Amino acid sequence: MPDTRQAGAGESPGVLLYIRVSSEESGKRGYSSKDQQDRLLEEAERRRWKVLEVPYIDLGYSGGFLERPALDAMRDRVERRDVRYVIACYRDRWSRGEPADMWVLTEEMKGHGCSIRSLDFQGDIDTPEGELQAGILDGFARFEKRKIAERTRRGKKRKAKDGKIIASTFPDYGFRYNSTRDGYEVVPERIVVVRRILEMVAHRGWGLTRISKALAAEGTPSPTGKEFWSLPVLKKIIDCDCYRTYPAETLRPMLSNPHLVESGSRYGIWWFGKARHVSRRIRKVGDDGQLTYPNTVTKTPNPRNEWIAVPVPDCGIDPSLVDAARDVYHSHRKPSRQNAKRFWQLSGGILRCPHCGGAYGLGGHGRHFYYRCSTRAARGRDACSNSTHLKVSEIEARVWAFVSSLLSDPDVMERGIRAMIDSEKRVVKDPSSELKSLLKRRTKLEDGRTAVEDAYLEGIISGERTKARLARIDEDISTIEEKMRSIRERAKRVDALEAQGESLLDVYKRATPERLAALSPEQRHDIYTIIRLKVDVPMDAVMSARWLFGNVFPLDADLDSGLVSSKVGSICD
Ligand SMILES: [Zn+2]
Repeated sequence: MPDTRQAGAGESPGVLLYIRVSSEESGKRGYSSKDQQDRLLEEAERRRWKVLEVPYIDLGYSGGFLERPALDAMRDRVERRDVRYVIACYRDRWSRGEPADMWVLTEEMKGHGCSIRSLDFQGDIDTPEGELQAGILDGFARFEKRKIAERTRRGKKRKAKDGKIIASTFPDYGFRYNSTRDGYEVVPERIVVVRRILEMVAHRGWGLTRISKALAAEGTPSPTGKEFWSLPVLKKIIDCDCYRTYPAETLRPMLSNPHLVESGSRYGIWWFGKARHVSRRIRKVGDDGQLTYPNTVTKTPNPRNEWIAVPVPDCGIDPSLVDAARDVYHSHRKPSRQNAKRFWQLSGGILRCPHCGGAYGLGGHGRHFYYRCSTRAARGRDACSNSTHLKVSEIEARVWAFVSSLLSDPDVMERGIRAMIDSEKRVVKDPSSELKSLLKRRTKLEDGRTAVEDAYLEGIISGERTKARLARIDEDISTIEEKMRSIRERAKRVDALEAQGESLLDVYKRATPERLAALSPEQRHDIYTIIRLKVDVPMDAVMSARWLFGNVFPLDADLDSGLVSSKVGSICD
């Protein structure tokens, strides 16, 4: 069917090409970015479509979510209304998740006079037949995705029950994988390190930071070969059951196959299924206002009775040492706040070390506190040569003088707050139109439900089939409702932010020097966070600051408040 709704006579319709390669597909034949591009260009030429831009390519992104940078850019581009088609090789390039995602895309594109196409689906989405066919393809893509996930999960579980370890990037420290990568072998020279770590905790009561420093000082690299051991890694060593051995008799009742352990021997435990990891992409606005697409993993712990124990070889560490280390570690933890009475308004990464880029933290003891480079404090003078100590009262006064001078200019503040709201809005794509299309979809599904019920009442289809169809429709309806709920939540958040921004602005418009001076340290800290203030504190004492706009201000410029009189104190340690 020739389509001439948009293109004028003799003018070729404009087309954009979309390519997606997920990480599992890389290297698979027909799925490489080049393969897809060749096929799309060929199709565009055959149909005499005019390719408007270079292809939009998402590499390493799953089709399970719509949060993808190239797809976003394409969605923005289509708003210019000169695009007649967007085309991908396969329909599952657009979406491999919920049918609602595909629906949102289709409706959004339609709203801009654009139609979604794919080489494996040539039907007209606007006809009932086309819609049915498309629906089948989408349903199949979703089924495939679930099947793959289910198969891997069940396969892993079976392996664990057979006493096999599911290999990840790194084995637990002190072990290596055997040749088939499904069991552990002890690495004695590393177990020595594990024992020493446990002894530092159990016998000397050392904290993790101190242990990390000690290991670095003697030149023992971390499990991933870094100079410093991270605190979570050390904590994991204290709690890891691979090092805590039990006699075979104790373990046996926990195992689905009692022959996995030999009487008279001891074994550590590697646990399978402690938590369920669900990864998804999200859209996020970074400190610099740039959109990024980090992969976030949500970890949901599983109930203890669902864990599967896999016995691992005895590492030779005395179990009473492991128990003692855990005891000391878990009973000695104290809150890290050094002085609860005072609020440190420049903590939390507002002051930056110009030398290493790290944050300034609080140092000192008794009544003498100062801000200093945290990197140097944690890792010593070789990690950062900045030995500056900043007097708390002086630096706080200087930063506040700078910020209050900004605050007393409502124009500057207004621009800042608007910029902040705009950057948050970019995360949420036009919620009302997404909602509208979802609502439409739900109405259609509800109509379908009525039609199925009518067909049953008229005796056209059997009770069994009616039940199955209704169940499927209900599942789709609840997916859509879930999606609508999350869109409404997001929109609500932006509204709240807008309201918050307006009231902030209101406060600043009425701000007088006296009122600003009356703000508490906590309120000041809040303001710093809101305007995303970062202050660079170089050693020669002329500071500069970055905030929401990314601008750099010399910190001593235009200060008439008289608060700043002295230079930054610099003491060598
Ligand atoms: Zn530093």
